[in-house]
Amino acid sequence: PAALVWFRRDLRDFDHAALSHALQAHRRVFCAFIFDTDILDALPSRQDRRVDFIQASLVELDARLRENGGGLIVRLGRAVDEIPRLATELKVVSVFTNHDYEPAAMARDAAVAAALKDCGIVFRSFKDQVIFERREVLTLSHKPFGVFTPYKNAWLKKLRERDYASWPVAEFATNLAPPLEGASVLSLQSIGFEKTDLRVSPGMSAGEDLWEDFSGRINHYQAARDFPAVKGVSYLSTHLRFGTVSIRELVRQAHARGGAGAETWLSELIWREFYQQLLYHHPQVVDHAYKPEFDAIRWEEGTEADERFAAWCAGRTGYPLVDAAQRQLVQTGFMHNRLRMVSASFLTKDLGIDWRRGERFFADWLLDYDLAANNGGWQWAASTGCDAQPWFRIFNPVTQSERFDPQGKFIRRYLPELAALPDKLIHAPWKLKPAEQAAVGCVIGRDTPAPIVDHAAAREKTLLRFKAIKPVV
Ligand code: FAD
Repeated sequence: PAALVWFRRDLRDFDHAALSHALQAHRRVFCAFIFDTDILDALPSRQDRRVDFIQASLVELDARLRENGGGLIVRLGRAVDEIPRLATELKVVSVFTNHDYEPAAMARDAAVAAALKDCGIVFRSFKDQVIFERREVLTLSHKPFGVFTPYKNAWLKKLRERDYASWPVAEFATNLAPPLEGASVLSLQSIGFEKTDLRVSPGMSAGEDLWEDFSGRINHYQAARDFPAVKGVSYLSTHLRFGTVSIRELVRQAHARGGAGAETWLSELIWREFYQQLLYHHPQVVDHAYKPEFDAIRWEEGTEADERFAAWCAGRTGYPLVDAAQRQLVQTGFMHNRLRMVSASFLTKDLGIDWRRGERFFADWLLDYDLAANNGGWQWAASTGCDAQPWFRIFNPVTQSERFDPQGKFIRRYLPELAALPDKLIHAPWKLKPAEQAAVGCVIGRDTPAPIVDHAAAREKTLLRFKAIKPVV
C-alpha cells in the first residue's frame, strides 16, 4: 500500500522523520506540498519573501527527489481540503507529516486527521523540527519550565546521541513513487505571487553553504554575535524556519565542536526550543501577556501613538540605531538579534506602544518569522513574558548604539544620510550644534528626523506605566 508525505516546514530530503518513517513502512511513497490559501490569503502583500523562499526551495526539493526516482506534487488550496483529496486520489492508506506546535497549525492538523479518518486513511505525525518537544523536558515536578537556564540545563542533561541521530532516507529511496505525469512545482505567478529581492539563498544547498561558512567562524560566535556590523552570527534562522537544514545535524556538530563559541550557539538553538515548548503549553501567549497581570498595562493609544508607531515602522524615530534596524528589516527581511532587542524595547519602553503591534510588524516582514520565537522575543523585550527583561531595566538606545556599533558602521550602511557624521556623534546626531550639522550636510529636521521622544522622560513614563499595575519584582 502507498503512503503520502506532506511537507510543511521541513523542505529537505535528508534526515527527515516523516519521510524516513514512510519510506521504511511503504513501498510507494508520494511527496506533496500544499500552498495553503488559509495562510497565503492572510499575507499582507503578494510580494512576500517567504513565499519566494519556499517556492524556490520546493524546486530544489523536487529536483533532488527526482534524482532518486521520486518527485514532488505541489497544489494550491486549503490544506484541510487538498490533503484528504490528494490522499484519496492517490489511494494511499497513510499520510505522514512532522509535528507543528503553533496553535493554528495544530487545529489544521486535527481537522486534516479527522477528514482522513472519515476516508479510512491514517494520519501520522512525528517530531522533527526540534530535539526535544512538548513534555520531553519538564521540571522535577513534571511542569513545563518557565525560566530558560534551568530548562537549558535539563535539556543538556537529557541529550544523548540518539536524540540527534539522523533519520535515514537515502537507503530507502527506492520506495519513492515516480513523479506524476506532467507534475511540476507551481510557479510563483501561478499561485498569485511575485518574485522578490530575496537576499537569503533558498534551499538545502544554500543551507549547507551557510553552515559551512559559519562553522569556520563558530569559535568567534560568543565574542562577535552582538555586533550587527560584523559577520558574527550564523544567518541560518530562515533555513531553520523552513527546515532546509536539519536541527539534528546542527546540534550534533555544535555539540561535537565544544568550546565557548559552539556552546553559546547551542544555547541559542535551545532558546528556540524553549519558546516552542512555551507556546505549546501556553497558547494564550499568542495574544496575551505570559504573565497575566501585564495584560493590564495601559499602552499608548490615539493619533500621537499611531504617528509614532508609523515613524518606528518607517525607521524615522530619530534614534539612528533603531532606524537603521527598522530599515534593515524592510530592505532585507532580516534584523540582527541585538537590534531586534533594541528596536522592540524602543517601541514598548520608549514609545509605550503595545508589543502586539510591533510583533505583528515583525511577523509581516521577517523572512525567518516564527510565531514562537517572535512572540517570545517581543514579550521578553516588553517585560511581559516569562524569564523576560525585568520591567525596570530599560535599554538606552544611544548607549546600546555606542556599545554595539561603536564606529557607526551598521548605522552608516542603512542611513547614508548620516554617513559623514563623526563616530562619536553618529549615535545621537541631535547633539551636534547647528553649524556642525550644516558642515557635515546633515541638518536635524531636514536630512534626518529629530528624536520623536526624549529617552529620559520616556523612561520615567514607562516606569510609572509598569508600577501602576503593581507587578511583583
Ligand atoms: P544565530 O545567532 O546564529 O542563532 C542560531 C539560531 O538559534 C537562530 O537561527 C534561531 O533559530 C535560534 N535563535 C537564536 N536566538 C534565538 C532566540 N532569542 N529565540 C529563539 N530562537 C533563537 N527568531 C526567529 O527565528 N524568528 C523570529 O520571528 C524571531 N523574532 C524575534 C523577535 C524579537 C523581538 C527578538 C528579540 C528575537 C527574535 N528572534 C526570532 C530570535 C533571534 O533574533 C533570531 O533567531 C536571530 O537573530 C536569527 O539570526 P541567526 O540565524 O544568525 O541567529
